[in-house]
Parts: sequence; C-alpha cells; structure tokens
Amino acid sequence: MSFLSSFEGWQNREVSRATVLSGQRFVSCKPNGKKIHFYVSGNGDGERVEKTANVLVGADCALTRVAQSAGWPKLSMVPLVQAIVELPKDMPSDVCRIWFIPEDTPYFYWLIPQSPTHGVLGLIGKEGQEIQGHLEHFLQKKSLEPIEFQNAHVAKYTRWIPNHRKIGESNVYLVGDAAGHVKVTTVGGLVTGFRGALGVTEAILNGGSSNEFHLYPQGCSPMPQVDPQGFG
Ligand SMILES: Cc1cc2nc3c(=O)[nH]c(=O)nc-3n(C[C@H](O)[C@H](O)[C@H](O)COP(=O)(O)OP(=O)(O)OC[C@H]3O[C@@H](n4cnc5c(N)ncnc54)[C@H](O)[C@@H]3O)c2cc1C
Repeated sequence: MSFLSSFEGWQNREVSRATVLSGQRFVSCKPNGKKIHFYVSGNGDGERVEKTANVLVGADCALTRVAQSAGWPKLSMVPLVQAIVELPKDMPSDVCRIWFIPEDTPYFYWLIPQSPTHGVLGLIGKEGQEIQGHLEHFLQKKSLEPIEFQNAHVAKYTRWIPNHRKIGESNVYLVGDAAGHVKVTTVGGLVTGFRGALGVTEAILNGGSSNEFHLYPQGCSPMPQVDPQGFG
C-alpha cells in the first residue's frame, strides 16, 4: 500500500516532501481542518499510531480500507482461479492459448506459459460464482495435472468509478485495484494500475489536472474507470 503523507506544498503546487509508509496497515482516516488524519497499525501488535497528511493515496487492493474509510461504495468483485500445469507436449512456450466456453465463464480460459516447461491455466467467473469445479473439469478434459492452485477475488470492470474524493479540505485518491483500474477483457490491473498511479501523481503535482487522463476522449479511454472530472 502506498501513502503519500506530509505532502508539503500541495497548495503551492510544489513538491518538497513526500513520505511513503511501508510495513504498516492503514486502519482509518478522518478530516481535520486542512489536513487528513489517519491511523496505521504495526504488524500484529494492534497498537494504532496517528499520522497526518495533506493528500492520501490508497493503493491497498480491491478490498481497500482507504476507500471504505473515505466513503467510496464497495467494489464489485469476481473470482479468479488458476492452476500451474506442465505445458502440453504440442504447445510451444512462446504462445498463449485461450478457449471461450460461455457456459462456464463470460471471459475465457487461458493457458499462459510461465517458463519453457510450465504455464498457468485459469479463468475468471461471475460475481458470487463457484469456479473451482469448472477449472478442475477443464483440466481433466485437457488431461492436465494441476501442480498448484491459486485463487483470489479481483476487482470487476464496472465502467465509471471516480477515484478522487475530498475529506474535509484534503484530497484522497485511489490507484490500482483499489480504484477498480482493471481491463474489461481480463480484469487484469497491472498496466492500468501503473497508468492510474501516473495520473494521480500528475493530478497531485498539477493541482488537480492530469494529462494522462485527458489524452483520450471519454468512452474510448484505455482506462475508462478513471473519472477525469475528479481531477478537474
Ligand atoms: C492469480 C492472479 C493473476 C493475475 N494475473 C494478471 C495478469 O496476468 N495481468 C494483469 O494485468 N493483472 C493480473 N492480475 C491482477 C494484478 O495482480 C492486480 O491488478 C495488481 O496486482 C493490482 O496492483 P495493486 O498495487 O493495485 O494491488 P495489490 O497488488 O493487491 O497490492 C495491494 C497491497 O496493499 C497491501 N494492503 C492491503 N490492505 C492494506 C492495509 N489496510 N494497509 C496497508 N497495506 C495494505 C497488500 O498487502 C498489498 O501489498 C492477477 C491477479 C491474480 C490474483
């Protein structure tokens, strides 16, 4: 998770100091005049420490506490499951394979090599859907033996989610999965997450505006979930 705290010079559009806190868990935040107060806890000791910032950036995954504490609605989530498998004998390690099976998933099954000999085979399901069984059945059908399963709930693409809010007089931004910056096709968020981070950085440095989010007309942006209005 990233916090930009103690961002002195925000009002003057100058950056003189930014602090990234790591190894601490964000708990909650509240307004306090021109500043934002937030609490973090160290690993396991349960003790809360109060901190202050002018701008708070939450990059704390789709289950984001920053968004929750700042009043954003919960993100829609979808289940993802994949298995590490040995690549089929007829599959070169420089190609990916996908299968469309709409009865199982509105997305697709993928098999992506991760080394010359092994790959990951997986799928994303609908909200609330149980997909482990589908994957196991598909593996059987393809005569592939799972070496290890990996699963997670990831942010679902739902178009428009503003990623900026005011708490009192302070600005709170979300980036990455916390902001729902994921692709519509695969709900992957690595590239879109970095673009969102760049956009938020620009917005902070430019007093609210970001070229990154104004490059593309609304409706055909490669990152359609960012609300350019939020930066204006
Ligand atoms: C199995 C799997 C495969 C994937 N494959 C792809 C792919 O091929 N391509 C792609 O683009 N995307 C993929 N994704 C999605 C991609 O991993 C995410 O979009 C990306 O990691 C999001 O980055 P992030 O920094 O926003 O969040 P995360 O990577 O989730 O990082 C959030 C961080 O915040 C920390 N955190 C959480 N709560 C708190 C708190 N309260 N206080 C402090 N810190 C906190 C977490 O410990 C974590 O370190 C995949 C996801 C999964 C699960």
